[in-house]
Amino acid sequence: MTIHVRVRAESSPGERRVAATPDSVKKLLASGATVEVESGAGLGSLLTDAAYEAAGARIVDRDQARSPGILLHVLPLTPSEVAALPAGTVTVGTLDAFQNPAAVAAARDANVTSFALDLLPRISRAQSMDVLSSQALLAGYRLVTLAADAFGRMFGMTMTAAGTLAPARVLVLGAGVAGLQAIATAKRLGGVVSANDVRAASADEVRSVGGTFIDLDLGTAEAGGGYAKELAEDRARRQQELLAPHIAASDIVITTAAVPGRAAPRLVTAAMVSAMKPGSVLVDLAAESGGNIEGSVPGERSSIPVTGGAVTLIGARDIQSDLAPDASKLYAMNCANFAALIVKEGELVLDFDDELLSGSVVTRDGAIVNERVAAAVEGGRASASRGSGAKPQKERA
Ligand code: NAD
Repeated sequence: MTIHVRVRAESSPGERRVAATPDSVKKLLASGATVEVESGAGLGSLLTDAAYEAAGARIVDRDQARSPGILLHVLPLTPSEVAALPAGTVTVGTLDAFQNPAAVAAARDANVTSFALDLLPRISRAQSMDVLSSQALLAGYRLVTLAADAFGRMFGMTMTAAGTLAPARVLVLGAGVAGLQAIATAKRLGGVVSANDVRAASADEVRSVGGTFIDLDLGTAEAGGGYAKELAEDRARRQQELLAPHIAASDIVITTAAVPGRAAPRLVTAAMVSAMKPGSVLVDLAAESGGNIEGSVPGERSSIPVTGGAVTLIGARDIQSDLAPDASKLYAMNCANFAALIVKEGELVLDFDDELLSGSVVTRDGAIVNERVAAAVEGGRASASRGSGAKPQKERA
């Protein structure tokens, strides 16, 4: 039977992305599926219903009942949205499973097969479906443009007959996908950029995009799979102490540090913020997951008094939605590429011997099949017989 794919109109305020574009609809149709797009789903990304129709999708009312099929979404569904899905529905999108145990339990109880693109193994075959990378890339760029807007001075060194303007000194903490993009963007604007991270590979990665790596001589902290490990308390405190002079000397501090499955590491204390020069700017990508910077609030721009003036502290929120057309374009293709794995000649084919499927499936056949998610949601009753067992490669704190 021909499978149909439905594209959700995101309901969260502030979320402007969509999980399909007219181009990705064409790709979905090419796999033999039919495609329904909920009316208005693309408007936040400047995509009209007419454009989806022209690509071959059918526009449906967003309240129209869903029939079993594949549901593409951006943000995790709420527990009540999951509970309303017909049994047998397959969902594809981000789950943030460790932060949304009620929605995971609802998917189990509703007999929904849920795939978490944020748990895909970061192997090369998954690159075209890697929503963490595609969205982090945009976040890294946006962090810099937010900082530049708040800075109120030129980024690049400028020499004129009337005098020379010094370049902005930019410090990036956490040099994963978002941090590296932030370094490259700040560099392109003319900033003098330095960065720190705890992974061994990060020094070369920072240099490859034009940054100067700050080696704090703390050793590395790696958990395998390319991810960082949480620093023990004394090392974390030492890191803060060693970072303090670098932060005080910076005009702009951008933080992107994350540890899978943990709250974001606290890298900058309120005292360190207070020691900065007036006019400096801090932007915290981790504001929604605990904050790399003490006092950062998601979606808020605060002015913090310092000697001689104030500094601006910005907590990121829904940051990819600031670049919704681009974010949707990449996210939609990530979804369509994943869908191509599970739709063959118009039919749903779930091959759980494929590590991309077994690594990203969270619920199926009325059970939570990802062991670590099961442990978090229901104390470890994952169904080993259903063969998932794959450890998530990526868990957002
Ligand atoms: P992330 O979002 O999990 O973390 C962001 C960065 O914060 C990481 O570089 C991490 O090392 C750093 N960090 C954590 N604690 C820190 C601390 N105390 N101080 C300073 N920095 C700290 O990372 P990510 O962007 O998802 O990337 C994670 C890994 O995945 C990287 O090794 C990256 O190269 C790899 N990756 C692989 C692929 C692939 O397809 N193979 C794709 C994307 C990313």
